[in-house]
Amino acid sequence: MDVPGGGPLRVAIVGSGPAGFYVAEHLMRRDGVDVEVDMFERLPTPFGLVRFGVAPDHEKIKNVTKTFEKKAASRPEFRFYGNVDIGKDVTLDDLRQCYHMVCYASGASSDRRMGIPGEDLARSHPATEFVAWYNGHPDYANYEFDLSAERVAVVGVGNVAVDVARILCRTPEELAKTDIADYALDALSKSGVKEVYMLGRRGPTQAAFTNPEVRELGQMPGANIRVLKEEGTLDTLSQEELDASDDRGAKKKLEIIQSFIDAAADSAKSKTLTIRFLVSPAEITPDANGGVANMRLVKNELYRAENGTLRPRATDHVEDLPVDLVFRSVGYHGLPVANLPFDDRSGVVPNDKGRVLDSSGHGMTGLYVSGWIKRGPTGVIGTNKPDALETVETMLADAKAGSLLSPTHSTAESARSMVASRQPNYVSYEDWQRIDNFERERGAASGRPRIKITSVSDALDVIGKSASGQP
Ligand code: NAP
Repeated sequence: MDVPGGGPLRVAIVGSGPAGFYVAEHLMRRDGVDVEVDMFERLPTPFGLVRFGVAPDHEKIKNVTKTFEKKAASRPEFRFYGNVDIGKDVTLDDLRQCYHMVCYASGASSDRRMGIPGEDLARSHPATEFVAWYNGHPDYANYEFDLSAERVAVVGVGNVAVDVARILCRTPEELAKTDIADYALDALSKSGVKEVYMLGRRGPTQAAFTNPEVRELGQMPGANIRVLKEEGTLDTLSQEELDASDDRGAKKKLEIIQSFIDAAADSAKSKTLTIRFLVSPAEITPDANGGVANMRLVKNELYRAENGTLRPRATDHVEDLPVDLVFRSVGYHGLPVANLPFDDRSGVVPNDKGRVLDSSGHGMTGLYVSGWIKRGPTGVIGTNKPDALETVETMLADAKAGSLLSPTHSTAESARSMVASRQPNYVSYEDWQRIDNFERERGAASGRPRIKITSVSDALDVIGKSASGQP
């Protein structure tokens, strides 16, 4: 691989979540490739959804960042530029001047809507906002959720819905051992929540949650779990599908769910989580003050769609579920990226194995995507590893073929001075390590993994920088 003018292949990665750090890792571990990676992040702290998406009571999952640290971030060819907003502080044109390739790994930061009346009433929220709030994301730290509510509906049965339901059901003692944001620990410890309903529009074997996650719901010290017999028993089409399948995971999932039917309730547990199936919210209606009071549910039946999947269809049967708080957890959705083509419907940047495609379907030189902005908001953290590898293979094949941007300032130092001129208070990896240590030391005093800093200015204070941009 020859870079015009010699020197290493210089790559900018936009976003420091799993999609970004696996691209960095794959690039830097490749034998015979002389590469330098600069990773940009809008917030002062790295790791995206590992820090702000993974549930606080799933600490072990966050260990993926240790591998990244060992295999990529600690190497001299790697630089981190936190607190730099690509598209605002630094433009794509700026990046084009300094790098041979730019890979966007900026995720899918918006949420899907249900499209029903009452969705925007007070006390009806996207689950993504609640997740970002309890994880201490600076953009959401000032949000308010009325946790005096006793009855909560979580719409959807994916892993995000499971996280939200589980966090609502955890005891204060359980939460106090985690890195949940301090304000969320306080609010959840005082919460009035007694009943949580997770609402699946299809049946048990179509539920999007994974088996370890749903199993964990049956093991909570503070909450009983319940599945209604008529909803946990398979309809004929699902049963036929399961019988004809050798998917052991689906069979296990059904077994776990059915173990919750008629599960003995422990009166010492103050909360109940009910997982419902074959119901869709049709309307949310307000109380006298305009807040959520009731959710009208319509009972569904399944039918086989043209593409062969089992889809839900409303029946005439409706039911009212009185609830005071609603979280819709029906999936994330990507947002457009400045200066890149975007497919609004699927919420992704059109691409071929990671190479960004223009509106005529031609590859755009030097521009790549990885992760949710490439494939949509699906998969667990590990799914990003092969996904990033695919993008890296495309990048390296293009580099070998000489398809590169033509930077005029192609050294690490010229890139650093460009960034410093646009955002003097950028956060380096060493700065982040100081923030990390500060959080961990604060946490150690109370037996917690860390106490997160939840504002940009507080994070910058720790490293002696200021949010206003003046060093
Ligand atoms: P998801 O897995 O796509 O689940 C979305 C859920 O919403 C599905 O149950 C879906 O039902 C339902 N839904 C969609 N539209 C609906 C509507 N209009 N009305 C009612 N229900 C509707 O999305 P997610 O839970 O946001 O998770 C995103 C990704 O992150 C997933 O791949 C997930 O596994 C991953 N994640 C993993 C973990 C973990 O590993 N612990 C934690 C969090 C997230 P249908 O199936 O019928 O469409």
